[in-house]
Amino acid sequence: MKKIVIIGASIAGHTAAVGLREKIKDCQISLITEGSYPLYDKSKLLQYLCGLLKEKDLLMVGPDFYQQQSIEFLKDRKVVQVSPSRKVVHCRHKDKRESYEYDFLAVCSGRRSVLPEITGINKEGIYTLDSLNDYKQLRQHLISDPVCFIGSVRRALPAATMLAGRQREVKVISSEGMQPAEPIDGMEIVSSEVIELIGESGVQAIRLKEGKIIGTSLPVFVPALTAANSDFLKDSGITMDGELLCVDESMCTSIKTIYASGAVCLRQGAAAAEKSWDEAIQESRMLVDGLAKAIGGADV
Ligand SMILES: Cc1cc2nc3c(=O)[nH]c(=O)nc-3n(C[C@H](O)[C@H](O)[C@H](O)COP(=O)(O)OP(=O)(O)OC[C@H]3O[C@@H](n4cnc5c(N)ncnc54)[C@H](O)[C@@H]3O)c2cc1C
Repeated sequence: MKKIVIIGASIAGHTAAVGLREKIKDCQISLITEGSYPLYDKSKLLQYLCGLLKEKDLLMVGPDFYQQQSIEFLKDRKVVQVSPSRKVVHCRHKDKRESYEYDFLAVCSGRRSVLPEITGINKEGIYTLDSLNDYKQLRQHLISDPVCFIGSVRRALPAATMLAGRQREVKVISSEGMQPAEPIDGMEIVSSEVIELIGESGVQAIRLKEGKIIGTSLPVFVPALTAANSDFLKDSGITMDGELLCVDESMCTSIKTIYASGAVCLRQGAAAAEKSWDEAIQESRMLVDGLAKAIGGADV
């Protein structure tokens, strides 16, 4: 029986897992994610942040879904390295190391925010807005301090507007010099750059380029720059464009046993633009067809 390992359990990985199970009955499928949840709806995360929705309202599949589909769901596992020659995926799970062998690997590990290299960036209490875990952390710590969004005005505005509308004091600190079309009550846009995060344990304040200090324990980084989660393949010899995995029209990479779909990859001839939810689904369907053909599964 062939073993298929999928890295990433958001929309690209989930669609690949379900599609492969439907197409190939006699294969073992393992779905690995560093997150703690099965598929959830990212478009509802802001409502969750503001307390308008509960965690369970975001989840798109029930707790037994993967078990019922005979898909092994492995959460809280960060893939740290892939060895294509030995066909092994190495993960970190809590304080332990684990390895999973595969015949075929699907990389659906998406993208993450790239944090700036400033003093104090490795302190506790730095927030991003990439995953449900991030939103959950921020929601738990929303206290009376101002929330300081740092980075891209475009990326900050949806969350900043929503929080300001709920009587939170919100600052957006950006060097882009961009302002919203209309002033928003409770939100201040500060045209500057953060150069230091200050605090003994955690963050208590941020220092701007001009020397001004703003008190906050809630620095939320929303950088314009995001990067593909492909570090675990960087020494593998696989073909990449920057950190994006290059794939052909079957979503196969330059290594014939490794496929990729969604935000982590770049299709031949396509522009390196951010992908929507629907585009990730579309690509994972192509991956299923390509991988099923390679395995020689049913309907191919
Ligand atoms: C807050 C937010 C709101 C959005 N709203 C919309 C919207 O309304 N409409 C829309 O079309 N698009 C929206 N998007 C974009 C859309 O969510 C993405 O296009 C889509 O999520 C890409 O899916 P993906 O599965 O390729 O990657 P991702 O969703 O990024 O998923 C990556 C998966 O890989 C896992 N992973 C990453 N690295 C590792 C590792 N080393 N080890 C193990 N697991 C790993 C992650 O835990 C995650 O499960 C939104 C994005 C965000 C962040």
